[in-house]
Amino acid sequence: MERVVIEENNLSLSRIEEKCIHCGVCLKTCQTYNNLKEKDCLNCGQCILTCPTGALVPKFDYKKVLNYLHDTDYTLVVLTSPAVRVAIGDEFGYEAGTFLEGKMVSSLKALGFDYVFDTTFGADLTIMEEANELVNKIKNNEKPLFTSCCPSWVLYMQKYHPNDVKYLSSCKSPIAMLGAMVKTYFADYNEIDAKKIITVALTPCVSKKTEMAKYQDVDFVITTRELAMMLRESEIDFTQLVDAEFDKLMGTGSGAGLIFASSGGVMEAALRTAYYMLNKVKAPDAFYKLESIRGEKDFVEAEIDMQVKKIKIAVINKIVNVEKNYEILKNYDFIEVMSCPGGCIGGGGQPILATNALESCRQKRIASIYAKDENKKIKESFLNPEIQDAYRTYISKKEVKLHTSHETEVKN
Ligand code: SF4
Ligand code: SF4
Repeated sequence: MERVVIEENNLSLSRIEEKCIHCGVCLKTCQTYNNLKEKDCLNCGQCILTCPTGALVPKFDYKKVLNYLHDTDYTLVVLTSPAVRVAIGDEFGYEAGTFLEGKMVSSLKALGFDYVFDTTFGADLTIMEEANELVNKIKNNEKPLFTSCCPSWVLYMQKYHPNDVKYLSSCKSPIAMLGAMVKTYFADYNEIDAKKIITVALTPCVSKKTEMAKYQDVDFVITTRELAMMLRESEIDFTQLVDAEFDKLMGTGSGAGLIFASSGGVMEAALRTAYYMLNKVKAPDAFYKLESIRGEKDFVEAEIDMQVKKIKIAVINKIVNVEKNYEILKNYDFIEVMSCPGGCIGGGGQPILATNALESCRQKRIASIYAKDENKKIKESFLNPEIQDAYRTYISKKEVKLHTSHETEVKN
């Protein structure tokens, strides 16, 4: 049977040929989620989760990280994406969706990382910058603005709609922003030579491996599965670990940063901050429970009253649903696209499960993320005290590269 084509130089995933039985499931998966005209790869890694023999795997980078963990010349910093803490438990016998932030942090400390920062802080940073872009577009009566935090979606635009790449937000993704902050803000704060810092992004995403190789904001990207492999190889019993907390400076994320993990979350998070930027008052309660755009819906639209103006938004799950609706996308003011089902909680670097358990497991991860947002004292990026400190003491004074041009890459 025909299979998904994975080039030798693919930095996100690879195929172990001896394990492949040529069943064609990977191509079927790719058609379900992406349905590309060419049979090329967007690096989302969904085929990894459905391959029946385990022939498809993330490009594993954790061995290189393990080598640095034993090198005292370097300061090792790990950045943890929000979707990892609700999935790592699948590797160690926990109920699907169990929120294991404390144990995740403590497992990374046990492995030897010197600092554990939270990518939900990076997500808050992205929201600050992206909400600002949205506010400017609203004020200037311009549209649309497309989110840019999913690298597979960005790659799809660059390959299939190069003339519309200009509508993508110029914001780097949360990992890239946080990576840039580690080598500047954190390095200066602690008077460490940036060349002696190794940053590792721990993510649910295999696409980030390619994205980060391009931007070089972090040194290595490892997946949730790779964390489990590192723990097993280091003989660390995850279940016995005592909860630990993130390190200060960039270890606090708001509820808005946390819900980035789930489809619709980026939109909801950005609207909370954009509303405040436009009106200088907190958004109405409805902005904190935008149920209609949450979850795993293919395409959902809504009208949002931003007080100065009503805007039209759309949230799209899976690239196949972008293509089906492409003609109408420019009618919306703000559009979020995530290529994995349910958003990053369903990423290709998450633990392998029985395929008939995937959907219910994603639902449990989503529920777990939103339950935490509901209990968070701070649910808005602009109210995160560490974000406020970072802008006041550093970002407003020094140059930190938080933006990029997705168009430049098309031309290159
Ligand atoms: S799904 Fe796995 S086993 Fe089947 S063709 Fe693809 S790589 Fe081979
Ligand atoms: S939806 Fe998330 S996990 Fe999936 S490719 Fe995009 S960024 Fe990666």
